[in-house]
Amino acid sequence: MSTPNHRIRLVMDLRAAGIADTCVLSAIERVPREAFVPPTFRDRAYEDAALPIGHAQTLSRPSVVGLMTQALEAGPRMKVLEIGTGSGYQTSVLARVVRRVYTIERHRELLAEAEARFKALRVHNVVTKFGDGWQGWPEQAPFERILVTAAPADIPGALVDQLSEGGVMVLPVGREKRTQALIRVRKIGGHAKMEELDAVRFVPMVAGLPV
Ligand code: SAH
Repeated sequence: MSTPNHRIRLVMDLRAAGIADTCVLSAIERVPREAFVPPTFRDRAYEDAALPIGHAQTLSRPSVVGLMTQALEAGPRMKVLEIGTGSGYQTSVLARVVRRVYTIERHRELLAEAEARFKALRVHNVVTKFGDGWQGWPEQAPFERILVTAAPADIPGALVDQLSEGGVMVLPVGREKRTQALIRVRKIGGHAKMEELDAVRFVPMVAGLPV
């Protein structure tokens, strides 16, 4: 179902889950999550649950999208890099909080579907790229914020390099789902300072492109 009431109830659940940033909550309230899930899951779009989006990938739970967006400490003038466009839901939430989102996806079909959704929903401040997120987007660097929505085993060095001084990156890190942690990296004086935020479960960040 997709009535505004469902979204308001979801926002109340997210508040209860500890998401207090009003910009993040209002972004989530305005993005129609049902437009990002396959038709068979549309009636579950406003549950706080991860949902399949095809190609063995998943759309994160809204509370995780909220936590990650909040942890990014992003503002309306910022240029942000996202790795793992997937359905484009997290991208669309982020696009309501910042100036511009550069997003990279390694699955061509997922990217094409996400691009169609951005167009239909008039999300105009998103620039997409088909490619391998491990390399980042050197032509557009530096980025004030970087959000990664697939889990690498280690923090990709290229992404730290492409973060601005004073910048923040939020990403799940860990080889196995049961031991992954959500990490916040701050670049201070050229060095990456790490902080562990939460236990999470993400699909792996895969190296290279599908053959
Ligand atoms: N944030 C997405 C869901 C992410 S699922 C949403 O809101 O729907 C993780 C995504 O990361 C998948 O689409 C997967 O294909 C992508 N991914 C994994 N490894 C990647 C890489 N090296 N480069 C770019 N994208 C990658």
